[in-house]
Amino acid sequence: MAAAPANKTSARELQYGRVERVLRERIMRGELHPGQRLVRRTLARELGVSPIPVIEALRRLEQDGLVEHAPNIGARVRPLTVETLVDDFVLREAIESQVARLLVGRLGPKQVDDLYREADDLDAAMRRKTRTGGDGMTMHARFHQELARLTGREVLVREEERIWSMRFIHFAWISGTLVSPVPKGWHRRLVAAIAAGDEREADEAARVHVRYPSTDPDQMTAAVRDALDELQKNGWRA
Ligand SMILES: [Zn+2]
Repeated sequence: MAAAPANKTSARELQYGRVERVLRERIMRGELHPGQRLVRRTLARELGVSPIPVIEALRRLEQDGLVEHAPNIGARVRPLTVETLVDDFVLREAIESQVARLLVGRLGPKQVDDLYREADDLDAAMRRKTRTGGDGMTMHARFHQELARLTGREVLVREEERIWSMRFIHFAWISGTLVSPVPKGWHRRLVAAIAAGDEREADEAARVHVRYPSTDPDQMTAAVRDALDELQKNGWRA
């Protein structure tokens, strides 16, 4: 008797998970583009499911910042605008400066060595390609998520995942226009600042890292606007 509802629950959970995964991948790959309306009946028909798992998947993707519900529109992929792009940077700076601060004095010599190695691999990979999309972006996300993981704070790990998911959907479109080329030893410098043992220095290094190439917020906004203009000139419509 007791097994039946449990099986039902897990079968439903599996279906929810599958629908969520498919939609997430389609957003990440840009098949569903920023700003695109997500009509649940259409999606349900395409995926061969009822609207209920689609509604649940959209709710979960909204929690991750990939989808938003707008008045008179319904659900849509998080749009690509100057505001949402600048939001990504502001949020990322807040989280990653705190990560750097918390890591000071927490890492053993082996962990620091491992981080230097990962930083060097990442810097080499990012300098090989001027565009930061695709694999370079995955590697980049993994490095910063690893730093968050090393703080031991689950909330920071979750937030980092959310931030980088949001960045992914944006950078799939504007890849390379904002960050190119990256400086030599870009991530090594960040690890060195954390390993140096001064919280303020680590915090500052993380902020400079996130704001690259300019520490001036107005200049960053201008760079974001230019990248969007360029995209629009190439036929992009949100
Ligand atoms: Zn980085």
